[in-house]
Amino acid sequence: MTTIGIITPAIELMNTKHKKLSLFELGAKLSQDFCRNNNIPVPEYKIQSLDSTGLYLSQTRNRNAQILVNLDATANPVENPGHMRWSHPAWKTDRTPFGVVLHETGHHLELIMRQKGFWKAYDWTTISLRGKKVSGYEPNDSEAFAETMRLFIGNPDLLRLAIPNRYNYMCQVLKLQPIVSMDYKTAIGNSNYFPAAEMWVAKTK
Ligand SMILES: [Zn+2]
Repeated sequence: MTTIGIITPAIELMNTKHKKLSLFELGAKLSQDFCRNNNIPVPEYKIQSLDSTGLYLSQTRNRNAQILVNLDATANPVENPGHMRWSHPAWKTDRTPFGVVLHETGHHLELIMRQKGFWKAYDWTTISLRGKKVSGYEPNDSEAFAETMRLFIGNPDLLRLAIPNRYNYMCQVLKLQPIVSMDYKTAIGNSNYFPAAEMWVAKTK
């Protein structure tokens, strides 16, 4: 892994007042750096009122690809997670603007990988159906891809340790390189999540 893009919510968010806006900007910056570093066309990131939390619009003749985020529908990080309340930047469940931005960037990457001919749908479908999942939101293999890419961009160390076959698919089949190089706990930056992260890494199924 290369050592660029050392921006994580954990480090940058300590004293910021406008958390959602900062998380949106951090996610957009990290996603743009990720795309540039991997020679992927860089989408535009915009805040917009929507029926959903986020939306990906592919490129048309008249405009670039766009990622729209409905900031009001996103969540702030849950600092003290408890029963059914787990959501944090760089964790496997992330409903903050950071996670939404990275998830929608995952949809962009799927489309580009298909266009480039790297995509092996059979492999991905097999990988995404078997074994551990990133989150509870994987209704089809396209959403599984976006959820996986959310971690591959934001916390690749966690994905590598927890679901190595998904991590390897990104690196070896799609030839994508992660840009965040820190260990998974540093990337999460909130020790309340560490026991659950250790358990998730250790789980075999
Ligand atoms: Zn999605």
